[in-house]
Amino acid sequence: MIRPEDLLHPTPAGLYCPPGDFYVDPVRPVDRAVITHGHSDHARAGHGAVLATPQTLAIMAERYGADFAGRQQAAAYGEAVSLNGVDLRLFPAGHVLGSAQVEVRWRGLTMVVSGDYKRRRDPTCA
Ligand SMILES: [Zn+2]
Repeated sequence: MIRPEDLLHPTPAGLYCPPGDFYVDPVRPVDRAVITHGHSDHARAGHGAVLATPQTLAIMAERYGADFAGRQQAAAYGEAVSLNGVDLRLFPAGHVLGSAQVEVRWRGLTMVVSGDYKRRRDPTCA
């Protein structure tokens, strides 16, 4: 039986996914980060690789420079991505342009990292 903390748990560097070997919105530089949105308390420079929406990657490039991460991987809303056998999809969070909630699926367990989100309509973002 897989426990939720097997899939995602907090660490000093941020929320970590051991089977996928990635962090969500890490507070320290890590090898692989999934970034929910472009605000500076979630999106930081210096990671080895960053997965985010194209809009969030553009915001990070504007804020930190084009070389803000070793590698950049864009994922559109709803696009299926696999990191080390863990399936991810990004969904609109309604918070700012490009903001996403992260669906994380592994061995029958599905969890969602909401990041920051907004429930009322906002014409600036999905
Ligand atoms: Zn925010």
